[in-house]
Amino acid sequence: MRFDVITLFPEMFSAIKEEGVIARGIKKSLLSINTWQLRDFSNNKHRNIDDAPYGGGAGMVMQVKPIRDCINKIKQDNPKTKVIYLSPQGEQLTHNLAKELSELDSLTLLCGRYEGIDERVIKHDVDMEVSIGDYVISGGELGAMVLIDAVSRQIPDVLGNQESLNDSFANGLLDYPHYTRPEVIDGQSVPEVLLSGHQANIDVWRSEQSVKKTREKREDLLK
Ligand code: SAM
Repeated sequence: MRFDVITLFPEMFSAIKEEGVIARGIKKSLLSINTWQLRDFSNNKHRNIDDAPYGGGAGMVMQVKPIRDCINKIKQDNPKTKVIYLSPQGEQLTHNLAKELSELDSLTLLCGRYEGIDERVIKHDVDMEVSIGDYVISGGELGAMVLIDAVSRQIPDVLGNQESLNDSFANGLLDYPHYTRPEVIDGQSVPEVLLSGHQANIDVWRSEQSVKKTREKREDLLK
C-alpha cells in the first residue's frame, strides 16, 4: 500500500519509517510512505502556505492553492488515491475503518496545522475526514501516523505469523491477558492452564478471559 503524506513536518515521519512494524513493512516492499513538504508548493519567497482568517479571529488558516497543487501533483501518477484530511471533525478511526482502508491501494493523508485548512479544500479536494478521537491535537501528523500504523497492521504479511488475529477489536472483543517468564514474581503466578501444555484448554481459557475482560472494561462491545 502506498501512503502519500502532505505535511509541514515531513521529518516527524521518521518515527515510523525507521522503527518497528511499519519500517519492516517498508523493507518488505509491502508499504511505502512518501512525504510531501507543503512549503514546496508555496508561491512566495518566504514559503508561506497560510494566511489570516476572513472574518477575523485568532490563528492562521492553511491556503487552498498549495494544498490543491500538491494533491494534483500526487494524482498525476496516482489518480485513484483516496484523499483523507486528518481532522477532529471527521469519522472516528476504528478497527473496522482501518480494515476497510487497508483494502485500498493508496491513501493521501493531509495534515492540518494552525486553525486548520480552508473549507474549500475540504469541499472540493478531500474524499474523507478522519479523526483519531474527540479531542484536539496541534497537528495532523500524529493522527496520520496513528492511521498509517492501524491500517498497515491489517495488510497481510505486514505483521508476522498472523499476530493481529486476536488483537483487541479484531473479533469484536478485547484481547486475552498475556504472561511471560518468570513463572512467579513477587508472589504473583502465571495461571496454571498456560503451563499445562494442553492447547485446547488454553484456547478455551483465552476465549473466556477475552469475554470477561470485555465485560469488565468495555461492556458496550458486547451489545
Ligand atoms: N480548529 C480546528 C477545530 O477545532 O476543528 C482544530 C485545528 S488543530 C489545532 C490543527 C490540526 O490538527 C487540524 O487541522 C487537524 O489536521 C489536526 N487534528 C487536531 N485534532 C485532531 C484529531 N482529533 N484527529 C485528527 N486530526 C486532528
